[in-house]
This record gives sequence, C-alpha cells and structure tokens, in this order.
Amino acid sequence: MKLGVHVSIAGGLSLAVERAVRLGCTTMQIFSRSPRGGAAPVIAPAAARAFDVARRQAGIDPLAIHAPHIINLASPQPPMWQAALRLYQEEYARATLLQAQYLVTHVGSPKNDDPAAGIARVAQAIEQTLASQEHSDVMILLENTAGSGQGLGSRFEELAGIRAQVGAQARVGICLDTAHLFAAGYPIHEAAGLEETLGQFDRHVGFAQLRLIHLNDSKVPFDARVDRHWHIGEGHIGRAGFQRLLAHPRLRELPFILETPKTSDAEDLKNLSVVRQLAQALTCA
Ligand SMILES: [Zn+2]
Ligand SMILES: [Zn+2]
Repeated sequence: MKLGVHVSIAGGLSLAVERAVRLGCTTMQIFSRSPRGGAAPVIAPAAARAFDVARRQAGIDPLAIHAPHIINLASPQPPMWQAALRLYQEEYARATLLQAQYLVTHVGSPKNDDPAAGIARVAQAIEQTLASQEHSDVMILLENTAGSGQGLGSRFEELAGIRAQVGAQARVGICLDTAHLFAAGYPIHEAAGLEETLGQFDRHVGFAQLRLIHLNDSKVPFDARVDRHWHIGEGHIGRAGFQRLLAHPRLRELPFILETPKTSDAEDLKNLSVVRQLAQALTCA
C-alpha cells in the first residue's frame, strides 16, 4: 500500500524527505512554499535535482504538491483572478521543477457570482497554466471540498464540469478527501453509502481520473459542510468506515496521504499505524 503524510518543508526541502523517511512514508505531500504566504523562495535547479534524487532513492513516489489555499481560480474579480492565475502558474512551474507527479488544487469560490461562470474561470485558468508549461508531466488534481459557503468542488458534477472544459484533459485528474466527502454529504461511513458514492463518482467523473486519496477522519458530523480533519478512526467516519475504504477494490491501489492534526511526529506515527492496522486486519480476515 502506498501511504504517506503531508510533510513540513520547514528548514528546507531536503529535510522534508528525511521527515517522510523517518515516518516510513512511501508517498508524500508538501507545500512548495510557506502556507502562511509571502514570496516563495526561489528553488535552485541543483537543489531541485538533489531533492528529486533523494526522494526517489527513499522510495517515495508519487510526490504531491498542494497549491496554496489562498489561490482562488474562480474569483469573480478580474484583477484577483489574474493574480491567482499568476501565482498558480508559478506554483505549477515549481511543481515541474521538483518533478512532482501531482499539483493538488482547490477550485475556489465564485462568491456571489453564478457557479457556472466560476467553473468556466477555473477551467480557463487551468487551460492557460497547462499551456504555459507544455512539456510538464505534472498532473493537476482537482480536490473535492467540504461544501462550506460558496466554495465550488464539493459535488462530483462540479469537478467533472471543470475537467470537461479543459482541452488537455489527460493532464487533469481528481484527488478525493475522505473528510470532505463525508462533510459534503456523501455517506462514505456506511457500506451502502460508500458504494453509492463511488458509483456516482464513476458516472460523473470516471474512476480512471481518480489518482490520490487524502485520508482524513472528520471532527464534524455527517453533512456538516465544514472542513475539520481528525485522527483516523477517532472521528465520525470511524474505524469501520476506514476499514471499508482501505479495502475497497476501487481505492486500495491508490496512494493515501494523511492530513491529520499534528504537533509532532508522534501523532503522524500513531495515525499511520492505525491505517496499517486497519488495512492489515482485512488482508488477514
Ligand atoms: Zn486540500
Ligand atoms: Zn480539508
């Protein structure tokens, strides 16, 4: 099983690989810049190559980069949209330099504007970004959201709508976050609900587009429309829910990345071990 966590890049990219190795990760996700904002440090080509070599030697594959949350590609204000596009293109170039497989992207919010217009703006931004790096192998993954406020991307139809409007569709896939699915009203915590949800995903988007799972339990109840990640098995999705998810033939071959709360490695180690136990329990059963 491909399993990893979102790893901090504090102290430099090379330390991120060391952290992931220490945790026993076989895949990982990073931010390429501080999530708190500010100008991103330039990545020297030599540093990018060293990072890539270290990551591959450590058997960490795939690498996902999470785009900064402040980027709103659905913004209804042209200057804001332009600024978001510029930042997103820069992020895509960084992901290319770091030889990441995926750039995980939140689709943003059209605020009070028509959602369909928002979807068209996101598709346009992605189209222009892919065109700006024609030879990049980095696949953009649209991530589903918890459905709070006016944000887009909590329904499979919206993710499919964005993808359908991009010309280079083969370069756009999907990342599903379990906490977001659950909070957005997809009943993945129940056996029948999981089947129904995956069936809907296949009809609207297609299983072949699903590349990555963000494995998070939810601190808030079903359909709460709030994004609150929690420790695996200790939230409202629960142990039985994760056991089914991890064993599902449509999911078990995908990379799983945890974004559960942490103040130190100890919490990551605990959550990783719970996931391994739950996955193990099934193969032995
Ligand atoms: Zn995300
Ligand atoms: Zn989340």
